[in-house]
Amino acid sequence: MKNIRSLVPLSKNNLHNQNTLIQIQKKTLKTSVMKYLILIISILVIAGCTSKEELVPISAEDFAFNHKGKEIKLFTLENDNGLVCQLTNFGARVVSIYTPDKNGSFGDVVVGYGTGKDFVEKKENYFGTTIGRYGNRIGNATFSIDSVEYVLEKNDGDNHLHGGSNGFHRQVWEVENVDKSSIVFSYVSPDMEGGYPGTINVKVKYQLTADNELKIEYFANSDKNTVLNLTNHTYFNLKDAGKSTINNHLMQINADKYTPVDAGLIPTGELAIVENTPFDFRKATAVGDRVEADHEQLKLGKGYDHNWVLNTDNNVANLAAKVTEPESGRVMEVYTNEPGIQFYGGNFLDGTDVGKNNISFGLRSAFCLETQHFPDSPNKPEFPDVKLETGKDYYSVCIYKFKTTE
Ligand code: BGC
Repeated sequence: MKNIRSLVPLSKNNLHNQNTLIQIQKKTLKTSVMKYLILIISILVIAGCTSKEELVPISAEDFAFNHKGKEIKLFTLENDNGLVCQLTNFGARVVSIYTPDKNGSFGDVVVGYGTGKDFVEKKENYFGTTIGRYGNRIGNATFSIDSVEYVLEKNDGDNHLHGGSNGFHRQVWEVENVDKSSIVFSYVSPDMEGGYPGTINVKVKYQLTADNELKIEYFANSDKNTVLNLTNHTYFNLKDAGKSTINNHLMQINADKYTPVDAGLIPTGELAIVENTPFDFRKATAVGDRVEADHEQLKLGKGYDHNWVLNTDNNVANLAAKVTEPESGRVMEVYTNEPGIQFYGGNFLDGTDVGKNNISFGLRSAFCLETQHFPDSPNKPEFPDVKLETGKDYYSVCIYKFKTTE
């Protein structure tokens, strides 16, 4: 920039002109400074929205933890659109997913812990985890196959929940394959582990696709006839990673029926019609609109904690649910080949534990959409079959697809 003194030499005669010139020069200087400031601020804002530090706040070093002689690690996947998903081999879990809001600003949509130590030591809420061998409950913790009765752990009152207290979620999985946008975890569950028959070889593949989907595929087989019902238990809050409730999230579930439960949250066996009940999510409806409605099933579940019977085309990945958060404009669609989906509204989160981002997740601060066969199917011959026969291949797929409103 030129020096104003060199442009206008000082003399009494041209004082007026000189003052005018000085004012013009000052103005020019101000404008230039402003321009620079705007440029610097823009660079900072753009960097703030897209920098790696913002996108991936959990570092592998901070996450690592030793558990039962095995190393719990963090893995980071990314697609070409900048979507990021972090996972851990402890329970083959999702730790975080960064997606853009309607303004293109990336944020974490997953609620839970942020270190291996917290996952091991803090309250087990099944954050992000692979659930096995059986997603949701088995009544009275027993079932029979080929006329043999198997007794499982009662870890939820008189019932068995999510494969028991030492289920797939507490195992340190092997990492078979990892590249920029996908990872495969594997685990061998020995015969009679948790009381279930058969040695199970299971693989879970997570992939971030070019269409902004987190695609989760389950592959398994068994050396004895058994039951298997795998799912993922990620808690989502599309607005603010769990700082506020999910009450304003618009929920849509592609189901005409759901499976009502008893006091222990075991399905009664009935397939109830959703029409004219708070369980009708065939049109997008805010979760909070009816969650406190005077309905026996909402009292039993302390809110939404039920399995919906999907309107399905059998064995292809159908649209099962769609969630829209109006403020951020984030949208998540769920696709699956499973016959059911558990919409769990975070009714047992109580704000006592602090997780990543220093958030203490309170009541209904997150939701899970768990694609699955129906709870207690091993004891309900009228429900779709969950038997996995010796030598047969198990396959299940769940896709969480991220979009924004226009
Ligand atoms: C179940 C809830 C249970 C929760 C545990 C959900 O899948 O439906 O009843 O409390 O998992 O985190």
